Amino acid sequence: MPFSDFWIENPAAWGVAGFLFFWALETWLPFVQDRRERVVHAGRNVALTLMNAALIALVFVAAMAWMAGWADSNGMGLLHAFGAPAWGKSLLALLLMDAWIYGWHRVSHVVPILWRLHRVHHTDPAVDVSSATRFHSAEIFISSVLRLALIPLLGLSFGHLLLYDMLQLPVTQFHHSNLRLPEKVDRIVRALIVSPNMHRVHHSRLQVETDSNFSSIFSVWDRLAGTFRLRTHPETIEFGLDGFDAAERQTVWGMLGTPFLASSRESSPAQKKRKFSPLA
Ligand SMILES: [Zn+2]
Ligand SMILES: [Zn+2]
Repeated sequence: MPFSDFWIENPAAWGVAGFLFFWALETWLPFVQDRRERVVHAGRNVALTLMNAALIALVFVAAMAWMAGWADSNGMGLLHAFGAPAWGKSLLALLLMDAWIYGWHRVSHVVPILWRLHRVHHTDPAVDVSSATRFHSAEIFISSVLRLALIPLLGLSFGHLLLYDMLQLPVTQFHHSNLRLPEKVDRIVRALIVSPNMHRVHHSRLQVETDSNFSSIFSVWDRLAGTFRLRTHPETIEFGLDGFDAAERQTVWGMLGTPFLASSRESSPAQKKRKFSPLA
């Protein structure tokens, strides 16, 4: 099997390679220094990741391939209306899927039941490469079902889905990584894609910051929608979510049970009352 085919046919190997690459960079140039229990923290996030990967592999990969084939043979979807060459359609598919993820992410912060699921991603008190795939399996299930519906609507091929995931995974691992980049470099990066300093603001405990920077690959969506936000001194950002700091909330069982607790936004008056201060 040629080298390039191996990576295309094994998205899991792609994810592992990205994880190891950014883990090594975080070790070399850490943003938050002297982190304790780094391996235990990553092990728990990886356990959730493996559950989600199994869910997608066992339930959704075959369903998405079937749906893409069905949509294609029936000429369904927005992309079929364009007479663009294959590369143009791929680029358009990439942008449309990224805009969709932006919208879905915003909705996840607003609809109470979706926020209960999505907040598992936000209760992480130590954002690093392992946080990139820390999601509740029920959230992955719902977003995968919606993606199934998106395939015929947009006319996505299985290749488009693979292309998006193979770009989104390393970009997401990158902007979650505990990597110290010079501000100048971060600024150049975030002109096009979501940078670490941009996504750190999204993991802030202050709700006004949590509800900003929803983009996944391209930073343009936050700029267009007016949800782009930065901290002058990102090292002052406190990661996590008020009301979810107990040690038992960070175990694998604790994370899986997090959606069943009362919503932090309803139950934590401290979060509501806290006035925004940029600490900058
Ligand atoms: Zn979020
Ligand atoms: Zn995140």
